[in-house]
Amino acid sequence: MPITNGDAMNEPTSTKALDCSAAMDVLAQYPDRDGIDVQTLLDSKNHGGLTYNDFLVLPGYIGFPASEVSMETPVTKRISLKTPFLSSPMDTVTEHSMAIYMALLGGLGVIHHNCSAEDQAEMVRKVKRYENGFILDPVVISPRTTVGEAKQLKEKWGFGGFPVTENGTLRSKLVGIVTSRDIQFHADLDDPVTSVMSVDLVTARTGITLQDANGILSKSKKGKLPIVDEGGNLVSLLSRSDLMKNLHYPLASKLPHSKQLISAAAIGTRPEDKARLQKLVDAGLDIVILDSSQGNSVFQIEMIKHIKERYPELDVIGGNVVTREQAAALIAAGVDGLRIGMGSGSACITQEVMAVGRPQAASVYNVASFAAKFGVPCIADGGIQNVGHIVKGLALGATTVMMGGLLAGTTESPGQYFVSREGQLVKAYRGMGSIDAMEDKKAGAGSKNSKASNAGTARYFSEGDRLLVAQGVSGSVLDRGSVTKFIPYLMAGVQHSLQDIGVKSLHELRQNVVHGKVRFELRTVSAQAEGNVHGLHSFDKKLYS
Ligand code: GDP
Ligand code: GDP
Ligand code: GDP
Ligand code: 5GP
Repeated sequence: MPITNGDAMNEPTSTKALDCSAAMDVLAQYPDRDGIDVQTLLDSKNHGGLTYNDFLVLPGYIGFPASEVSMETPVTKRISLKTPFLSSPMDTVTEHSMAIYMALLGGLGVIHHNCSAEDQAEMVRKVKRYENGFILDPVVISPRTTVGEAKQLKEKWGFGGFPVTENGTLRSKLVGIVTSRDIQFHADLDDPVTSVMSVDLVTARTGITLQDANGILSKSKKGKLPIVDEGGNLVSLLSRSDLMKNLHYPLASKLPHSKQLISAAAIGTRPEDKARLQKLVDAGLDIVILDSSQGNSVFQIEMIKHIKERYPELDVIGGNVVTREQAAALIAAGVDGLRIGMGSGSACITQEVMAVGRPQAASVYNVASFAAKFGVPCIADGGIQNVGHIVKGLALGATTVMMGGLLAGTTESPGQYFVSREGQLVKAYRGMGSIDAMEDKKAGAGSKNSKASNAGTARYFSEGDRLLVAQGVSGSVLDRGSVTKFIPYLMAGVQHSLQDIGVKSLHELRQNVVHGKVRFELRTVSAQAEGNVHGLHSFDKKLYS
C-alpha cells in the first residue's frame, strides 16, 4: 500500500525505520536522474526567464514527520528568524499591528514609510515596547499625577500599570503602583494617584535573574513586579502579560540577548531619509530596508555607506535587484541582505509600463546564487500567491519571502474591511507606485492610519517630476482573517512541502538544490492546467481549518 503523503509518518511505523540505501543500490545500476538540476532549469538561454508557475519540484524520500522540518533561516548576515515570512512595507499591509504579529509568529513585518518620520518612529517604538523582559525604561508617574492624567497615559501607551516614584522618574524612590483597575471606576479625575495607588508592594532587588524575578511575579499574583535597588529606588519593571506572550508565541523573532521583538522598517534613499532614519534608530530599529524599485543607484550606494559608518549595529537590506550586476554593487557597498523582485508584485505594472524587470524565478535564482557566495541572505519579494510559490522562492535560493497582497486582507493590516460590489468582504490593497499612493505622499496625507506625511521616499517618482507615471494599481483583496491563523497555515504548508521534497530544513533544501539532489521539471501550459482544479462543475476552495 502506498504511503499517503506524510500522514503515515506521524506515527512510528516500520517504514520509518527504513532508509533509502536499498533504493540507492537499485538506482546505482542506472545512474540517470529524473528531472533537471536548478542550473539547467533556470538557464534562460534555453527557454527565456521563468517564473514560479513554470516549473515544479520533484518529490524525494519522506523519512520524518512534517512537524520536524525546521524553518529557521537568516534574514540578514547577523539576524535569523524561526519562520521565513516577511510582510511588505506598503501602507495597506504593514503598520505596527502587522509588524507585532508577524514578529510574534516568527517572521518580520517591515513598517512602511508613506507617513511622517514621527509616525513611523512611533510604530517602531510600539513594536519594541510590545514584549519585554525587564522593562528598562518603564513609564513612571509622580505622586502629583492626577487620575485623569493616568487615564490619558493609559490611552496613549496602551498599558495602564504605572509605578509611582517620589520624583516621577526612574531611579527615584518607589512609593506605590497604579494599575488599570485602580483608576477604572474612579470618577474624580482631579484626585492625585496617591488616593488610588497600592503602597504595600511586592518588589525584587536589582541583579535578580529574569527567571527568578518571573518566579516572584508568578507567586505574587500581581500583574507587575517593580525591581528596586538597595535604596528602594525603581530600576526596572516586569510584566506578567509578557510571560503569557512568551508562552503563546514560542517562535517570536527576538535578538539573542533581548526579550523584545525585532523591528524592521523601510526608508527611501533621499538626503531627508537620513533624518528619518535617525528617528527610527532612536525608537529602537533593528533592521532597515532601503525601499527602491531599482536599487542599483548612486543614492542607494551612498546611503548604505552612510548607514554602515554611522550605525554599525543596524542591519541594512538593499534592493530591489533582479540581476547579479545590481546585486554586486550593493554587496560591495556593504549590505547585510538583499531584496529581490522587479515587476512581479500583484499590484504592479512596472514591466508593462517601463519594459524593465525580470520574471521572478529567474531573478531569485540569479541574485540569490550570486549573493550566497558572499554570505548575503536574500528576500524573494512579490508574486507570492500560495504556499507553492513560497517553497519555489526558497528552493531557488531565497532565505525568506516577502508578501504584500497575500497579507493585505488580514485583520492586522491597516484600514477597514468593506463590502465589494459582488457582496464580498474585502480590504483595500494598492501598489506603492499607484497614482493613489503617490498622490497621498505628495499631498502629505500619508497612510490611512497615519495623520501626517511629508514627501521623502520617492520610490517611484523623482521630486522634479511634473507628471506621475504609475507603476502600480489600486484595488482590493478578499478577507483572510487573522495572521495568527494564516501564518501558521503557511508554515505548516511549507513544512509539508519540504517533507514531500525529502529535506528536513530550509538549509538542507538550499544545499540539496545547489548539489543537484533536489530535481525540477519544467511545466507546459497544459501541465499547469492539469495541476489546477479542472473538470468540476463547481467547488469550494477552503485552504485550511
Ligand atoms: P526563552 O523562554 O527561550 O526566552 O528562554 P530564556 O532562558 O531566555 O528565558 C528565561 C526566562 O525568561 C524563562 O523563565 C522565560 O519564560 C522567561 N521569558 C522569556 N521571554 C520573556 C519575556 O518576554 N518576558 C518575561 N517577563 N519573561 C520572559
Ligand atoms: P497593563 O497591565 O495595563 O500595564 O498592561 P498589560 O498587562 O497588558 O502589559 C503591558 C505590556 O506593555 C507588556 O507587554 C509590557 O512589556 C509592555 N510595556 C512596555 N513598556 C511598558 C511600560 O513602560 N510600562 C508597562 N506597564 N508596560 C510596558
Ligand atoms: P491590573 O489587573 O492590570 O489592574 O493590574 P494588577 O493585577 O497588577 O493589580 C491589581 C491590583 O493590585 C491593583 O489594585 C494594584 O494597585 C495592586 N497591586 C499591583 N501590584 C501590587 C503589589 O506589588 N502589591 C500590592 N499590595 N498590590 C499591588
Ligand atoms: P505581492 O506580494 O502583492 O505580489 O507583491 C508585493 C511587492 O510588490 C512589494 O513588496 C513591493 O516590492 C512590490 N510593490 C509594491 N507596490 C508596488 C508598485 O506600485 N509597483 C511595483 N512595481 N511594485 C510594487
